[in-house]
Amino acid sequence: MRMSNEFAFSLALAGNPNVGKSTVFNALTGLNQHTGNWTGKTVECSKGSYIFNSFKFEITDLPGTYSLLSFSSEEQVTRDYLIKYPSDCVIITADANAVERSLVFVLQILSICEKAVLCLNLYDEAEKNGVYIDEKKLSGKLGIPVVKCCAVKNKGIEKLRKTVYGVCCDKIKCSVNSEYTREIDVFNSKLHRENIAKLTSSAISICKACVTKSGTERVNLRTKKLDKILTSKRFGIPAMLFLFGLLFWLTVVGANYPSQWLSTLFGAGKEWLCLLFDNLGVHKFIKGIIIDGVYTTLSWVVAVMLPPMAIFFPLFSIIEDSGYLPRIAFNLDKYFAKCGTHGKQSLTMAMGIGCNACGVTGCRIIENKRDRNIAILTNSFMPCNGRFPVLIAVTMSFFAAGANKFITTVEVALVLLAAIVFAVVVTLVISKLLSVTVCKGASSGFALELPPYRKPQIAKNIVRSLLDRTLSVLGRAVIVAAPAGAVIWLFANLKINDISLLKYCSDFFEPFGAFIGLDGVIIMALLLGFPANEIVVPVILMSYMSRSTLTDYTGYEQLRQILLNNGWTAVTAICMLIITMLHFPCSTTVLTIKKETGSLRTTLLSMILPVIPGVILCAVIANIARLFF
Ligand code: GDP
Repeated sequence: MRMSNEFAFSLALAGNPNVGKSTVFNALTGLNQHTGNWTGKTVECSKGSYIFNSFKFEITDLPGTYSLLSFSSEEQVTRDYLIKYPSDCVIITADANAVERSLVFVLQILSICEKAVLCLNLYDEAEKNGVYIDEKKLSGKLGIPVVKCCAVKNKGIEKLRKTVYGVCCDKIKCSVNSEYTREIDVFNSKLHRENIAKLTSSAISICKACVTKSGTERVNLRTKKLDKILTSKRFGIPAMLFLFGLLFWLTVVGANYPSQWLSTLFGAGKEWLCLLFDNLGVHKFIKGIIIDGVYTTLSWVVAVMLPPMAIFFPLFSIIEDSGYLPRIAFNLDKYFAKCGTHGKQSLTMAMGIGCNACGVTGCRIIENKRDRNIAILTNSFMPCNGRFPVLIAVTMSFFAAGANKFITTVEVALVLLAAIVFAVVVTLVISKLLSVTVCKGASSGFALELPPYRKPQIAKNIVRSLLDRTLSVLGRAVIVAAPAGAVIWLFANLKINDISLLKYCSDFFEPFGAFIGLDGVIIMALLLGFPANEIVVPVILMSYMSRSTLTDYTGYEQLRQILLNNGWTAVTAICMLIITMLHFPCSTTVLTIKKETGSLRTTLLSMILPVIPGVILCAVIANIARLFF
């Protein structure tokens, strides 16, 4: 019995992608790891632990992979881990709907690991599809225990824990049937074909003995019906646009009120703080830094950014969990193919909507180096958590002033939808340019699994995306915004010859800013936003407020007033939207690109690449507008 520390058994969790491995991991450990219904989500190992019968079990979640036989990064990570760190028990998660395919993988694991438990997950779906599995027979054939599970409903998880405990303590004996595994050699790539042929015939013969099918395949039928519309040539893309449009509309409608409430709350807090500071006789300078600097910036970040994020990201997670994202990759594949890359890139783009650094790491799902580099270089065209609220705030305050509330919200949703379509088009154009210049070469083909549509776990998605995305992004924004607020306030209030430092800086950038339809303050804010895009708007506001009479704001209408008072027009707002989408990625993303590519040249290119089309587009729009207005 090998223990990684005095009382802990070590477990490894392996499985094909999309068999509910993360859900099993979460159910076992109580951790909220990211689940999503598409292939290639887990590219790194994550760890967790649980206690059973007073024993501690440390569990490592390995990347989902279809086999151990070839050399993609996930397969290498999984195989190397299993060899280098032999566990007390490997939990192999398999899809009860697709036992035959799962067994091809199970047998490969059993060829290198002696102690294992097979977790037949998604058993609820299998039953609906009329699949019956004789787990005793299957266990006898393989020589390891088999447990049926429905991880989303926590069914079978306790039995799984108990069985794993039995295997670790040698109360349950594993004796892998060498008939199926002895000729498998996962280290010899030359034997690839022989291995696959042998594995497939073994899997078929085991399935014949243990699996029976009857009745109609209800889950598969539902998926087929939905796919007839959602992946059809005629309706696929319109359905996608409608879905995202609806997502934005719900965000816009839902965000308005909480944003106003929060602003009112923070406004009252500010008055209370001012009174308190006055009563305590705090120096004007300290009061300025803390209330007008730190507090005002923080309240902006929270009041304006929190509501849209708290609505958009849970909704996005629900769509992700339903299995729709790979359909986007499928629908867009032909456009990507025309641009010299492939549809998997759209999955990494969808990850980029959450966070570009995550999107860049997610590019590991693309095996071919050239295609991966293109996906990495273009990922930051997708607006991330930090930039999305800027788009929302500018759109809400600038394009939401109509009398009819409903029409206004639809307009805003359409602007946001246009922003995403714009991001996709720019990604395609730049990908094409890259594929015929710095990233020349042929694109690789790819197999994309379209998993069945599944009822998303709504409550879990809401909680998880609030914790994972909303709060962590907000936390990051607050950490950066608080000191930034203080620094900007100092910049705005430290004066040389009666002119503030802020004005010196913004005046320096003013000619360039004006040329591209913006102003010096915006350019400075974009540069200062390099550590985190979240602070771009607070910096702009702080700069404007330090020179205008307005000292407070309560929501988007006030924001609009501040912007109008500082010379913004519809052209400024449009150029702001464009430059928000197209400027250098944040420092975290840049560091991630350096880490993932190991190339300084690629990293620098990734920084310049968005700026060039951004500046050109803004300049063209601003100068054409000047001709007419
Ligand atoms: P992974 O890629 O293997 O880590 O899979 P996930 O854990 O992300 O799950 C993929 C999808 O399957 C998610 O939508 C889960 O909610 C869903 N899922 C996981 N386990 C079950 C299950 O036992 N039954 C059903 N019906 N859905 C499940």
